[in-house]
Amino acid sequence: MHKDAKTLDNNTVIEGDICIIGAGAAGISMALDWKDTSYKVILLEGGGFEYDEKVQELYAGKTTGQKYFPLKSARLHYFGGTTGHWAGMCAPLDPIDFKERNWVPNSGWPISKNDLDPFYAKANKVLKLGPYNYEYEYWNNELPNLTPFPFDHNVVWNKMWQFSQARYGDLYKKEILEARNIHLYTYANAVDIKTNDNITQVKEIIVKNYAGKTHTVKAKNFVMACGTIQNARLLLASNSQAPQGLGNHNDLVGRYFQEHLEVASAELWLTKPFPTNLYSWEYGVTKASAELAITPEVQAKEKILNGTASLQPLSVAKYQKPRMETWQDGDPRKSLENVFENWGEAAEKAKGEKGNIEHAYQLNTRIEQAPNPNSRVTIGKEKDELGMPRANLHWELTPLDKYSVRKIYQILGRQVGIAGIGRIRLNEFLRDENDDTFPDSTNGGWHHMGTTRMADDAKKGVVDSNCQVHGISNLFIAGAACYPTSGAPNPTLTLTALSLRLSDYLKNTFRY
Ligand SMILES: Cc1cc2nc3c(=O)[nH]c(=O)nc-3n(C[C@H](O)[C@H](O)[C@H](O)COP(=O)(O)OP(=O)(O)OC[C@H]3O[C@@H](n4cnc5c(N)ncnc54)[C@H](O)[C@@H]3O)c2cc1C
Repeated sequence: MHKDAKTLDNNTVIEGDICIIGAGAAGISMALDWKDTSYKVILLEGGGFEYDEKVQELYAGKTTGQKYFPLKSARLHYFGGTTGHWAGMCAPLDPIDFKERNWVPNSGWPISKNDLDPFYAKANKVLKLGPYNYEYEYWNNELPNLTPFPFDHNVVWNKMWQFSQARYGDLYKKEILEARNIHLYTYANAVDIKTNDNITQVKEIIVKNYAGKTHTVKAKNFVMACGTIQNARLLLASNSQAPQGLGNHNDLVGRYFQEHLEVASAELWLTKPFPTNLYSWEYGVTKASAELAITPEVQAKEKILNGTASLQPLSVAKYQKPRMETWQDGDPRKSLENVFENWGEAAEKAKGEKGNIEHAYQLNTRIEQAPNPNSRVTIGKEKDELGMPRANLHWELTPLDKYSVRKIYQILGRQVGIAGIGRIRLNEFLRDENDDTFPDSTNGGWHHMGTTRMADDAKKGVVDSNCQVHGISNLFIAGAACYPTSGAPNPTLTLTALSLRLSDYLKNTFRY
């Protein structure tokens, strides 16, 4: 069932059993998990079914620190959420990503990879991926002729990826609209969360839209699935009862914002032709491919973060501009167009490249950043059209991030040398070991994580291991905001798994 909240009478009261705020990857995955149950699910979406400039504008905000994409165009504000633009790269986190690592400050999840495995398997289905199997050996049987580099397996391993084409807005619209117990309200922007007097339980959510309508939503449980930056913003902006914002009694909401550093780091020059099909990827064609990863043992020995290196033909890569440069338009559609235009031009120019470069690759890092309390989302004085304070982002990296990127290529360089297949050349920005900074050209992956991190101790995290906001019994967070650390893989598979785990917990725990 669907209603456009612009067309409802002003001050309508909407009631249900569970209210999910945000119809993106997390929110839609969760709502569908409740389909055909006896519970009334309210799914609130701030936008409509298509891009709407007036809604997208609500996402605008300032950025400081390490250069970042405009906040307005770094995500999408309509049904289906940011999956409308995502590339579909999926891989689970590694077991080490959940562990406390004494060389990574503030690392460690209160759950393990084993706890998430059953939900990763479900998430793989929601995302229309292949089997929940990310072992190189499995894919080598499925897709013969994948040849790994002859590296020492105690040092470097092949981390496999699968590729989704699930654009939630297209894929799941019909199913959501036809579900008899899911009540979708579009143009229903949650702007405030109201609790009981002692701030232990949410009573209602206030929603608004640009038609000037205000409505109230009442439910037994509330799940915030608005994306990492927006979840923090909504908690911080809900400050009429808790002056510092909801769930923020330990000044943690918005802190530990993390991105994946996706950065061109080195060149691999092969001295003779070597098949690289295991490491190649073509959108819509490749079922699985690998990136080079450092084993957990070597990560511990070298005291580095978890990251991978992917291969891209150098003849093309040398003509591509950093996405941090081409994705600077506030309109996400225009930014996407600019990136594709640049990629098209690069592919054309590459056709003229002949000789040794045909056996050369750019190595692109994909790496977690160390959790950093100073890397954070805050709210400013400036308000959006609905009267909600805008989000600001201060993105800040640490020396461990730079050290880890450099170290990964020193390790890979040694392996390439020992295998006798070529040489690795570090990019300029990695050569000075005393330089901890990252250039402006450093890309993020549009992966927003960490602003309501999970910890059993309320002094160390905003949500507990069931994604419940500490101290507020019926308020939960679904999405990558809950990650204490982010591993190397893109976030959507894991955030979907985590949302399905939360869904399971709510079903099992609460009696309605
Ligand atoms: C260009 C690009 C490429 C990407 N590629 C990949 C990739 O290859 N692999 C990968 O894993 N990830 C990728 N991502 C990231 C991926 O899109 C996100 O991780 C994912 O969409 C996040 O899911 P979410 O549900 O948390 O947030 P979103 O998908 O952003 O959904 C949030 C939803 O909440 C709604 N909303 C927001 N505020 C409110 C409010 N106050 N009230 C009501 N509704 C609200 C929004 O309109 C939206 O529908 C990419 C992103 C971009 C931009």
